[in-house]
Amino acid sequence: MTADSSGRGDEAREFRRAIDTHTHLFPAALTDAIRRALTAETDWEFSHPVTRSGIESILAEAGVEAYVALPYVHERGMADELNAWLCTQAADAARLIPFATVHPEDDDVGGIVREAFERGARGLKFHCPVQECKPGDSRIQPALDVALEYDRPVTYHGGTAPMYEESPYVGADVFTELVDSYPDLRVCCAHMGTYEVEAFLSLARDNENVYLDTTFAMSTEAQETMGFDPDSIADSAFIELSQSIMYGSDLPNIPYPYRAERAGLLSRDLPAETYRDLFYRTATSYLGFDPAPGE
Ligand SMILES: [Zn+2]
Repeated sequence: MTADSSGRGDEAREFRRAIDTHTHLFPAALTDAIRRALTAETDWEFSHPVTRSGIESILAEAGVEAYVALPYVHERGMADELNAWLCTQAADAARLIPFATVHPEDDDVGGIVREAFERGARGLKFHCPVQECKPGDSRIQPALDVALEYDRPVTYHGGTAPMYEESPYVGADVFTELVDSYPDLRVCCAHMGTYEVEAFLSLARDNENVYLDTTFAMSTEAQETMGFDPDSIADSAFIELSQSIMYGSDLPNIPYPYRAERAGLLSRDLPAETYRDLFYRTATSYLGFDPAPGE
């Protein structure tokens, strides 16, 4: 294969048919608060636009045809309004796949999630260390039960990276408790489960409903930003588990160009079939979408 003069030809072809399963879209005030918190805890600098149109133009230029927006709340009483806002955004944004969230201290955890699914939310998101709940926490079980009832997946920040190694709410052990309690629920641990990648890879190997996303962990900047070496995950893991691993980016809260999220994966020279899974097909099965014949 040859690249065009801009050096982008190969990448555009191999990445094409992509779904980004991990982005964030919040109302402006919340985005500012999240960035302030991240900036205070890290030395990252952010330059990507945070508006829907700004995010969508980056994704469109990259060839991403659909993206999952993951909300989360750090306090009770905020989820319902945020879920409603995101579903309204999705109503006139064809590429946007809205997820919902709920806080473990909310009054009607199951009802908030049911309402969000009725509004069009396609899955659930929990940020365990920020929301201070384990993945299978009894307080959020009503939400998980509704997700099962609606056949919707649940994405977690469930790993110890980048600054949660002391948190009791994350890690392979507590994630395993979730999988044992909810074997039929499709669940994703974001960021390849860093920093316990091997344990999360085995969990995915042993459970067809356990997924991982590549977000942040597989970027070419991962060593610098989170002290994780993406090369510590062998090509064979992606080939073997291509139906369990899906592409994600954390756009717009990444302190590097969007391209860096896929550049390392594309430089691996994996089989075309593996790339098709990682960038597109695994996301469709996670989301419960039927890919068209031949995809
Ligand atoms: Zn994220």
